[in-house]
Amino acid sequence: MKKTLCEPAALREILRVQKLGKNLGSYLGETIDLRDVLRDVKTAAQFHGWFSEAFSDTGEFQLFALHRQPLSIRDAQSQVRIYISTGIHGDEPAGPLAMRRLLEENDWPEHLELWLCPCLNPMGFVLNRRENANGVDLNRDYRNPKSAEVCAHVAWLERQPPFDVTFCLHEDWESHGFYVYELNPDHRPSLAGKTVEAVARVCPIDLSPVIEGREAKGGVINPTLDPAGRPQWPEAFWLLQNKTRQSYTLEAPSDFPLAMRVNALVAAVNAALKSFA
Ligand SMILES: [Zn+2]
Repeated sequence: MKKTLCEPAALREILRVQKLGKNLGSYLGETIDLRDVLRDVKTAAQFHGWFSEAFSDTGEFQLFALHRQPLSIRDAQSQVRIYISTGIHGDEPAGPLAMRRLLEENDWPEHLELWLCPCLNPMGFVLNRRENANGVDLNRDYRNPKSAEVCAHVAWLERQPPFDVTFCLHEDWESHGFYVYELNPDHRPSLAGKTVEAVARVCPIDLSPVIEGREAKGGVINPTLDPAGRPQWPEAFWLLQNKTRQSYTLEAPSDFPLAMRVNALVAAVNAALKSFA
């Protein structure tokens, strides 16, 4: 039987982990060689039969998406369409690493149809900064896109069918643990609780009552906001307005060890997707 990480001793270890105190004013932790990571991503995707589509080739890097049909369909109602993206902020390395791990492990529930965008801001990683090469925070450019990356991404998204649930993988260099933003205006069954519960076995949760200026409970933020009233849209707002009615932005705490943050994002995605199994 598989040994789980939720044994009391393992849990105590996780709770003992302290913030590294490295991030003074910005993310100053580990960086990644994005070329290596994307090469591994493409190798794993090809090996496991994903369809890869480049949707922008403007500079040194391609922007690309991966798509996998369900491996089995039990009935039309059980078919679930999931979209996962990451790498929109170049100082958040855990996202692309989590995507690589998920692809290499290939442990997706069979009846899910999946779309992945493994890295939306490659030059940000080369420069180890949040923004793209032109200094644009791409995750504020989705209302009236101007950057080449977001224009290409939105054009690709518009060609896709609606998604049942979307996930955007991020990191927060200021947070005290993992947390999640949930956009669920129709009050569908929430995936947030299961997600946080699974992550708590591998990473501290930020239990602050206020995170990023918003009310939070048990590591979950349910922002009450109307994207129409906001001048700058993150990717999740565009998705909510155009492609989905249920969206999760997963935030790993980047003042903790990188391996722990990758484990947190992988555990979050796996827990959320397993709830459809
Ligand atoms: Zn981010």
